[in-house]
Amino acid sequence: MRTILIHGGAVLTMNGWADVGYVFVEGERITAVSPGSPPPTLIAQADNIISAQHCAIIPGLVNAHTHLSQTFMRGLAGGRPLLPWLRELIWPLQGALTPDDMRLAALLGLVENLRGGVTQVVDHHKITATPAHTDAVCEAAAAVGLRVTLARAWTDKGANAEPVEVILADLERLFEQRRGSDRLQIASGPLALWRCSADTLRRSHELARKHGSFTHFHVAESQEEVRLSLEETGLTPVRWLHEIDLLSADTQVVHAVWVDDAEIELLAQNGAPVIHCPVSNGMLGSGIAPVAAMLRQGVPIRLGTDGPASNDTQDVWETMKTAVTIARASALDATVLPPAAALNLALSAAALVPGAPADIIVVNLNHPRAMPVHDVASALTLSTHGSDVETAIVGGQILLRNQQIMGLDETALLAACRQAVSQLRQRVGIH
Ligand SMILES: [Zn+2]
Repeated sequence: MRTILIHGGAVLTMNGWADVGYVFVEGERITAVSPGSPPPTLIAQADNIISAQHCAIIPGLVNAHTHLSQTFMRGLAGGRPLLPWLRELIWPLQGALTPDDMRLAALLGLVENLRGGVTQVVDHHKITATPAHTDAVCEAAAAVGLRVTLARAWTDKGANAEPVEVILADLERLFEQRRGSDRLQIASGPLALWRCSADTLRRSHELARKHGSFTHFHVAESQEEVRLSLEETGLTPVRWLHEIDLLSADTQVVHAVWVDDAEIELLAQNGAPVIHCPVSNGMLGSGIAPVAAMLRQGVPIRLGTDGPASNDTQDVWETMKTAVTIARASALDATVLPPAAALNLALSAAALVPGAPADIIVVNLNHPRAMPVHDVASALTLSTHGSDVETAIVGGQILLRNQQIMGLDETALLAACRQAVSQLRQRVGIH
């Protein structure tokens, strides 16, 4: 069985931080976590030894909301608000992507996430013109090796609507194809609620639940969206979801920027997780989600970068620090989201523990931006960039080592992406 020993760094254990400690991995799982130096017997057993001096050894990060297709649309927001940005740029570009463009865009986005210490990504996948477009993302996920949830987007009203039976059949096809995979999961990904009918929302959610999965949707991202929801249903988005019985621990509410106190209460009562994407909300001028109030009420919160077209990076560290600063600024309260709590919103597990899947990252803290490290959680949350991640391991497999992507030619990937984007711009007429 393949073994890995990581030693010499600060380790996040179930008893808190060990200033210097080690982690031992056998096969896909962690088998030992301890303060101090590893015993000679463990060193002798290790196939791979990773020195983590002046580094932090922690669980991998989760990027709980992105759109991998948008890596090809990075940098194009150009000061537009959400709906004009979608109509003028994002939808025409998405419509012109070929399955091979989609594969390259997904590879690029996954490599970017991996380099930043993300071991688990939720891709809200919008490019569903053909099954080949969706399969291209699955192929890219397998090539990079991250844990990926593909939330298959759909809408059954308005522009780009699909017939209900097509949506359900494609979801069923994907669930069946990926059954038993521990790295790739499928979820239902309705787009904005004002473009989805209650009946199809319920049916797709039931289907996801049948396969042990969940629903992942944009909710109350902009004021315009709340207005459209009131027009369509007479209710604000979260109230409407509650009304149609679609708020629960397995419905992930992405954004929740425009929610009032009663809606926050509904989210908390139903245990519906909110995926907070503060950089994207700021970039599109959508607003600031009331995170301090959500935390007070006990709403579960995870962090997402959102797609590169509205961020423009997929750096979860940047998202983490932004979440801290704007939550404090908007609540006029410097005690909101202390560093360790903010870090917890992004970690794939609260600590490294024996028996858990070996999803581990090693983050360099030996640089001027982090020095001196009085408090490891502060150094990680407030001083770290994605480029400080040295090593990333998923399920006991080393995917990034000494900042080198393993098993994939990154230079060739960047060249292929450059060429594909140039051809895409010509097809759509963006000069
Ligand atoms: Zn999004």
